[in-house]
Amino acid sequence: MSEVIRLLPDNIANQIAAGEVIQRPASVVKELIENAVDAGSSQIELHIKDAGKTSIQIIDDGKGMSEMDARMSFERHATSKISSAADLFSLSTKGFRGEALASIAAIAHVDMETVEAGEQIGTKIEIAGSKIESQEPCSRTKGTSICVKNLFFNVPARRNFLKSDNVETKHIVEEFNRIALTHPEVGFTFSHNGSIIHNLEIAGLRKRIVDLFGRNFNNKLVPIEEETDIVKVKGFIVKPEFARKTRGEQYFFVNDRFFKDNYFNHAVVSGYDNLLAQKHHPSYFIYLEVPSTTLDVNVHPTKTEVKFEDGRSIYSIIRSTVKLALGKYNIAPSLDFEH
Ligand code: ADP
Ligand code: MG
Repeated sequence: MSEVIRLLPDNIANQIAAGEVIQRPASVVKELIENAVDAGSSQIELHIKDAGKTSIQIIDDGKGMSEMDARMSFERHATSKISSAADLFSLSTKGFRGEALASIAAIAHVDMETVEAGEQIGTKIEIAGSKIESQEPCSRTKGTSICVKNLFFNVPARRNFLKSDNVETKHIVEEFNRIALTHPEVGFTFSHNGSIIHNLEIAGLRKRIVDLFGRNFNNKLVPIEEETDIVKVKGFIVKPEFARKTRGEQYFFVNDRFFKDNYFNHAVVSGYDNLLAQKHHPSYFIYLEVPSTTLDVNVHPTKTEVKFEDGRSIYSIIRSTVKLALGKYNIAPSLDFEH
């Protein structure tokens, strides 16, 4: 008997894709806030219930969607952000795969309300398990609101493997921090079970760091800055005496995207030379800018890994930038550089 090969129905294909993109409530938070940022929002609200297990709502004041785009946005590989392979090398948006909404809608109940700029009547869609349950007009004056409920309702194994509310909330906070640090020019509100965790006004980077991590950060920070043809570096590192035994706040961004990189972490640490106590880790908030043709962000769907064409040179530049900044601070520790 011969095997029969068939294409999977959309709802199953979406559910499989969802397994890659959506691991836990924090993945939903990341994807939806990124969409809100990509939509040009200046104020974004995040409200979660029970660590996102019961609901995750994101409200933005971005450009919104038409009735048809609202429907299309839930199709797999539906994106307004790239239209050719070449665009992959000049991304100015966070999203580009067109997978997030399709994935989320495959494994949760989603209510979306959205309106295009200048309109008074928007559209409201309910979708669950990849199936549109209803779509009708609604009155709305700006932006988009998406509410994701009962995550993994049809994937019991995933649902059962979710960790405690405490742990899941920590993951959400981490995603939130990464985006809030990338976009100090956007205001954010974040609440959990009705109580406000953050209310971040539009700010400069130093103030955003302090608003997120506490006022005592204000006198810990040393600014760094360097500009070469290969990379521009800016941001803040902490004074050596504030390094800690735990890893602390260590953030790298490149072209407005958070990424993780042990190699560059090593560059920072070695820039401190012998100023760090044994086994102590510095906090840092380092923003790189490289020509987009020298960066590959299409490494993995969760996208915290990126590839640099010239990682070695960037390593040396980060190292010397850190060293120089600490040298200046040692000569004139009381000078407070503004960013
Ligand atoms: P991607 O972000 O990779 O394009 P998504 O599945 O996250 O894929 O979103 C699909 C499309 O839906 C986006 O390209 C965008 O056009 C639209 N979209 C999603 N969220 C919003 C939003 N909050 N405001 C406006 N448009 C949105
Ligand atoms: Mg997206």
